Amino acid sequence: MVGETRPGALDLTAIHATHGGIWLADGEGRVRAVGRGEALSVCAGTPTIMLNAPLVAARLGLPEISGLDLLELFAFVHPARFAVPTPPGLARALGLEAPGDDAAAAAFYQQAAAALLDRLGADDWPEREGAWTAVQSLGRLRWPWAGLAAPRIAKPERGERWLFSRLPQWEEAAARPEARPLRLPDGATQDRLADLVGEGAEPREGQRAYAAAAARAFDPRLEAGRPRMVLAEAGTGIGKTLGYLAPASLWAEQAGGAVWVSTYTKALQRQLAAEGARLFPNAAERREKIVVRKGRENYLCLLNLEDALQGGFSGRAAILAQLVARWAAYSADGDMVGGDLPGWLPSLFRRAGATALTDRRGECVYAGCPHYRKCFIERASRASDGADLVIANHALVMLLAARQAEGGAPLARIVFDEGHHLFDAADSTFAAALTGQEAIELRRWIVGPESRSRGRRRGLAARLADLASYDDEGARAIEQAVAAAHELPADSWLGRLAEELPLGPIETVLARVRATVLARASAADAGFGLETHAAELDAPLIEAAAVAIEGLEALMRPLARLRQRLIAVMEDAPDWLDAAARARIEGALGGLLRRGQTLSAWVAMLARLGGTADPDFVDWLAVDRVEGREYDVGLHRHWLDPTRPLAEAVLKPAHGLLVTSATLTGGGDWSVAEARSGALHLDTPQTNFAVESPFDYANQAEVLIVTDIKKGDMPALAGAYARLIEASGGGALGLFTAIGRLRAVHARIADRLAREGLPLYAQHVDPIDTGTLVDMFRDEPHASLLGTDALRDGVDVPGESLRLVVLEGVPWPRPTVLHGARRAANGGSAHDDRIVRARLAQGFGRLIRRAGDRGCFVLLAAAMPSRLLTAFPPGVPIRRLPLDEAVRHVASRLSFDASFGHQGAGEATSAGIHENADIASAREVGR
Ligand code: SF4
Repeated sequence: MVGETRPGALDLTAIHATHGGIWLADGEGRVRAVGRGEALSVCAGTPTIMLNAPLVAARLGLPEISGLDLLELFAFVHPARFAVPTPPGLARALGLEAPGDDAAAAAFYQQAAAALLDRLGADDWPEREGAWTAVQSLGRLRWPWAGLAAPRIAKPERGERWLFSRLPQWEEAAARPEARPLRLPDGATQDRLADLVGEGAEPREGQRAYAAAAARAFDPRLEAGRPRMVLAEAGTGIGKTLGYLAPASLWAEQAGGAVWVSTYTKALQRQLAAEGARLFPNAAERREKIVVRKGRENYLCLLNLEDALQGGFSGRAAILAQLVARWAAYSADGDMVGGDLPGWLPSLFRRAGATALTDRRGECVYAGCPHYRKCFIERASRASDGADLVIANHALVMLLAARQAEGGAPLARIVFDEGHHLFDAADSTFAAALTGQEAIELRRWIVGPESRSRGRRRGLAARLADLASYDDEGARAIEQAVAAAHELPADSWLGRLAEELPLGPIETVLARVRATVLARASAADAGFGLETHAAELDAPLIEAAAVAIEGLEALMRPLARLRQRLIAVMEDAPDWLDAAARARIEGALGGLLRRGQTLSAWVAMLARLGGTADPDFVDWLAVDRVEGREYDVGLHRHWLDPTRPLAEAVLKPAHGLLVTSATLTGGGDWSVAEARSGALHLDTPQTNFAVESPFDYANQAEVLIVTDIKKGDMPALAGAYARLIEASGGGALGLFTAIGRLRAVHARIADRLAREGLPLYAQHVDPIDTGTLVDMFRDEPHASLLGTDALRDGVDVPGESLRLVVLEGVPWPRPTVLHGARRAANGGSAHDDRIVRARLAQGFGRLIRRAGDRGCFVLLAAAMPSRLLTAFPPGVPIRRLPLDEAVRHVASRLSFDASFGHQGAGEATSAGIHENADIASAREVGR
């Protein structure tokens, strides 16, 4: 057995690779810097310990590398626990001393491996149960760690409880009674707020006023269809989360109702779940009263997992399934995306199989599933029925509210935090797309498995076998639906489109769509998405659309008949229709209703192609690509104003709504907040409330507009990023509007920065999920992070880890068909300006998260229009200056050393021009 000839370290080779160099530690613990060639030959010849194999492969310039990945071992030893996947992060998780520098990291990996393996033999290892059985299976799958781990795990005397017997069952509960109508007295709200803020930390005046305003969203409504609505803008630092949790929790407690708290980003969801400890210090009570609810595609499907463990997966995907099974036995909620499954685990397997373990395709058989009573999805859904506070995201809240017509629990009181994203969330939720990917998903849902593929797939006939054997008409409807679904796109459809040999009516339409888009594509083609207006289309496409409509209607008819038969069977209630079968049929009815709605939307889109446009919608044709590779083709339809369906489906049925954000009005213009929240479409006046940030922005932050980086000059852009990051000593968030430019900048500067001890991570470059990248960035004060849209608004990194934000230019919206239509309908360039101001405000909002933070916001935009500067909070100094001066300025103000955080703005040196006068006049105009 390979072991520990040096105490506390595993005597196997270990590798540490960064942009700045490669280090190998040999079995004796001697470390040397090596070149790429030597590293490759060592890794190919000996089992090598490493941290995050895909990242090591990327640093070595390989597509993949196999070795002894410490993260996989960590996931096995401590399932459902998290470690930041960096040397210091791993050291912290294991209680070891972190390595002092990159050179020491390789030897540290040998210690970490020994520490993890030692735990397998410890008496007090909390995650022992199931490990012996799992490591036997992992050994058969040739998991690299199995040979080292298996001898250290004692065989249990009695058989281990298997995952499916370990998990608790959920219980049915009576439906919740109607909430009592009540009006919260202001004093009670303030008392609750004071409790939440805690002793010794008095609520501030702004927070008290905010809580009082938020409480009015919980007043009883006077008329159906006219909810109480409060729009509340609260500058960063007000403490708005506790400000609304105070009235929300008090109302839920006294009225006996549920409040849904909806967010746009996962970061805020995590923060809200953490704030729950203030409301319910007792963990058991907290679990009952505060529930995080996600879309079903986020949760592990136990039936899919069982299938994967029993041979449905092979190779690396089968190893992932074993590690996921270890996690599932210890997970709090079975959430695979943003729950307690480390975000880095699926990335280690290049996502092989992770998505096939969730219920993405809607193949759930509900009560027909042997794991139904232990199902994580069913458990989460029932838990939210009885909770006081349900934390969810905008998309799910909209979906559930829209499904109230199907008999779901009503969403009567909703707090939309990050309310400035309501428009975008509604835009996606209420859109329709007839694309190859969407159509093939529908085919698979109806037809079932047609080729060998990962995961459990069952068609409609298999899911409704008992109905088919009981009801002839239902059986015929299933047969006809399956036959009609064979006309939908099938595997390899993209290849057939490229060869112009489409099969069936939908593929034929898609082939014509593709030809039209390519014919109209612009010459400046960067290899990403292409699109064109659904206007002036040629006859072959319109004719193909007419044939496709017939094909879709031939599918809609049997699906509608099947629905009727299911309803009839439910009403007849034959002997075999026990509670389990009833639940399964209800599930099938919901699925059929939604697919029917999708098919109707597709027919409407196709029918419009030859006729006049509907002014309420924007239609376009698109070919989706990444770096020149096509992955989808189709027709798209969005509402010109998606807050209209939002108002009908979500806002009007509610009793009380609070829409809140730090940037709701885009600089004090309430008409923006009213238009983008859907308030305009309500037949009732809403209450508007605003409170400014308590931060001293004039001293905490400044905006530097660099005037000498020419647009399109990539070497200059990359050089500017490198110099600014060097000047600040890292701690920089670089924001881009185009992935191509992000990658080009990263490729030019990552090595240079790494050699100076400044790690640079990047979304769309590093093979790591975005949440983990942010964790890594937060964990290392000298690290910097480059990213696109998701980072502009989803990063909450207080303190010195984020002290510089650099934008590559003015963040103008992309000139898409949809943007063009909305621009024309909303005041032309004023619409563009509103979008840019909102983006600037969001980016700036990343910088100062708490009272002690200081930072610089740098805009590499020679031609930044002054009218847009109202995006920044009043009082922030704004300077236009050349790069050299900006670099000096950043260095003197921010370099991360003992002086960080102690310098005031007055100490910064700059000959830059102050623009405060400009801002003042622009603000006058803006209001
Ligand atoms: S009930 Fe549905 S989602 Fe849950 S485990 Fe079974 S098949 Fe999967």
